[in-house]
Amino acid sequence: MRELLGGKGANLAEMANLGLPVPPGFTIPTSVCNYFYDHAKSYPKDLKAQVEKALAYVGKLTGKTFGDPNNPLLVSVRSGARASMPGMMDTVLNLGLNDETVEALAALSGDKRFAYDSYRRFITMYSDVVIGFEHHHFEEILDTYKDSKGHVLDTDLTAEDWVEIVDQYKDAVRKETGEDFPQDPHAQLWGAIGAVFGSWMNARAVTYRQLHAIPESWGTAVNVQAMVFGNMGETSATGVAFTRNPSTGAKQLYGEFLINAQGEDVVAGIRTPQEITEAARKDSGSDKPSMEAAMPDAFKELTRIYTLLEKHYRDMQDLEFTVEQGKLWMLQTRSGKRTAKAALRIAVDLANEGLISRKDAVLRVDPASLDQLLHPTIDPAAKRDVIATGLPASPGAASGEIVFSSDEAAKLQADGRKVILVRVETSPEDIHGMHAAEGILTTRGGMTSHAAVVARGMGKPCVSGAGTIRVDYGRGLMTAGGRSFKAGDVITIDGGVGQVLAGRMPMLEPELADEFGTLMGWADEVRKLKVRANADTPEDARVAIKFGGEGIGLCRTEHMFFEETRIRTVREMILADDEQKRRAALAKLLPMQRADFVELFEIMQGLPVTIRLLDPPLHEFLPHTQAEIEEVARAMETDPRKLADRARDLSEFNPMLGFRGCRLAIVYPEIAEMQARAIFEAAIVVNKRTGKAVVPEVMVPLVATKAEFDMIKARIDATAQSVMRDQGAQIKYEVGTMIELPRAALMAGEIAKTAEFFSFGTNDLTQTTYGISRDDAGSFLGAYVSRGILEIDPFISLDRDGVGELVKIGVERGRKTRSGLKVGICGEHGGDPASVTFCHEIGLNYVSCSPYRVPIARLAAAQAALGKKAEGQA
Ligand code: PEP
Ligand code: MG
Repeated sequence: MRELLGGKGANLAEMANLGLPVPPGFTIPTSVCNYFYDHAKSYPKDLKAQVEKALAYVGKLTGKTFGDPNNPLLVSVRSGARASMPGMMDTVLNLGLNDETVEALAALSGDKRFAYDSYRRFITMYSDVVIGFEHHHFEEILDTYKDSKGHVLDTDLTAEDWVEIVDQYKDAVRKETGEDFPQDPHAQLWGAIGAVFGSWMNARAVTYRQLHAIPESWGTAVNVQAMVFGNMGETSATGVAFTRNPSTGAKQLYGEFLINAQGEDVVAGIRTPQEITEAARKDSGSDKPSMEAAMPDAFKELTRIYTLLEKHYRDMQDLEFTVEQGKLWMLQTRSGKRTAKAALRIAVDLANEGLISRKDAVLRVDPASLDQLLHPTIDPAAKRDVIATGLPASPGAASGEIVFSSDEAAKLQADGRKVILVRVETSPEDIHGMHAAEGILTTRGGMTSHAAVVARGMGKPCVSGAGTIRVDYGRGLMTAGGRSFKAGDVITIDGGVGQVLAGRMPMLEPELADEFGTLMGWADEVRKLKVRANADTPEDARVAIKFGGEGIGLCRTEHMFFEETRIRTVREMILADDEQKRRAALAKLLPMQRADFVELFEIMQGLPVTIRLLDPPLHEFLPHTQAEIEEVARAMETDPRKLADRARDLSEFNPMLGFRGCRLAIVYPEIAEMQARAIFEAAIVVNKRTGKAVVPEVMVPLVATKAEFDMIKARIDATAQSVMRDQGAQIKYEVGTMIELPRAALMAGEIAKTAEFFSFGTNDLTQTTYGISRDDAGSFLGAYVSRGILEIDPFISLDRDGVGELVKIGVERGRKTRSGLKVGICGEHGGDPASVTFCHEIGLNYVSCSPYRVPIARLAAAQAALGKKAEGQA
């Protein structure tokens, strides 16, 4: 019932149903949150009575009474949305304490020190969350008090010290607010409930929801639960654990705990936590005892429970627990956040352990997250200048300029700079900076600290808890091992091993683990869509093959000409003012093109290769500077002034809709002939060399009418005949077209009479359907998305309703004319999981995407075949 109870509430109820030790409590559902915001922050009429009744029942179960001065029930009040939003909303612990009940707690526990420690924690949290009097005020009071007594640690303080500190805290609240700290437990409770609902709309929660596409309408629930105390002395503790390693996926209980502490101490990373298992303690070299050694009974119980929870939820769990005087209590379980690497390993392991099916495993990994596996690592041959070490909080390596604030990170990133965000610790206010940074480095905090958890979720490299680094925000300086680095200096972090290095490091492409191949194999068994790559160079083609590409869906031949020596010849061709000069330039280009295609065909070993005829938005090729014009003029033996005139003639107002695509081949057919010749000659060469049949697919871009296509196809066919005659060899080939203009989609039935395949160029189709220029969209589409006019940039994810409708029409009409027409997509959308789902649904034969996204497309295609809908779809 997560929709109603939120994740935390639903899982607490589930654990209680399983008979696990969960402190009694109740959940105010998300529907009340929606009511709250729909009704000027007021509650449904009967809520008060229901809460009172539930509180009384919790009291009955615990043998205590809320507000009773002699035997008080104390509660925690926590948020819990449908989707996990770690640390984004508010929590209050120890609620119900006041000047009277604190004495009762002291008497009942026989530990006055504990009672007043709990009270001061409550005052801090309640003031911070409900009153808006921030916690640092209290930390300052505490520090001043400790200094005055010559103490360093909280544990040095006695009960009397805490009594005094509580008094000072209350004075501070009175000074700040003009009122006493609230003593009525019921007033406290409603204050906390209101604050938790209120926190649904705080700035960091709103940002988090935007980043994770969580609808505002979901709302948060409020969980009210009897307190259990991890700070009741040496037999008490609190901890967090993952049932498997969230970084690597290894099957080992993984977490940390603190003796005599409350949950916030672990999360805040103020004290360095201890390991849970002996094995982990040995690995870390820590001299503090593990939970396994210090609390063997509670550890055994934890092991029993986590094994049961993994079986029940059939997934890796993220647990929170408290040990109160030797007894273990479960405070939370949820599916654990994990790196892509861990997600893969866990999915494959769970399937091999028989907990889930292979199909489930395929559905368990978010295709987009595979990007994380493709992160660069530092070249092992490179010499490392290690300036500090910390925890390997999130894998991958990154170099960048040091920035010390999130605002600065966002600012520099907007200027195209790469930065490493360096903070003592991060908090949810840092989300935008973490997003902007290449990597995150903190000097404090453990593996479950905010920085670690959030960076892992973002797939960004992170080193946390690098304790030897001193950060001086005021001076914009960090020092480590006697060396200083200022803002703007370049460092590298290695999140895989937890190192901080001076300078920029050479990076290596990642090696993929065995589980990757296994899961991809399972994905390939179920998917229907083929996955090809957009590859223009031999290097692209090799990467495509490595990642399982099943062919090349788009070779943009103009990209073969950007190299310096070649672009000169292309310029000669474009600027030639008669056919003879153009043919002279083309004759120089032919051998270059042929060699390119030979290499591509050889690498692809008989897999299909679609080669698109030149589609140059002319402005990309025209010479721009005087020097460039003179250079081409020399090669063409022409007057530079004449050439400059010609270049001016050719310049266009709107090159994306200008003299490009097939229009070039219509006006200068000799260009298409040269390219076709290069393709066919290369096919014959490779055919002879490898004995494998090469069946090139020649593709005509930006077609609007059948007549355009037919004219160019006739030239291609004639060239094929001529090459076969010259070479005395036979070749098979296909001639097809891109569908990237609305007219082509509408006329697909006509065009398919002669076109042998279609490939949807959804970049141009989106541009022409929306009438939004590809090159200029950046300046305003962001506002469209942030203002909710568009859900997502249509150049990133295919617009199903509009552009998608044209694609559907094109497929239907094309196949009506030519049944079994092969249809693919080669716009950027081919690597976007939601768009891949759409392509599967409308029955395309393949998607083609950039080589690095081939695995993403393979997995997305498999998930689509297993019936997974794209996000946002019912
Ligand atoms: C397209 O328009 O979708 C396409 C693949 O071609 P290009 O991006 O080269 O215009
Ligand atoms: Mg295009």
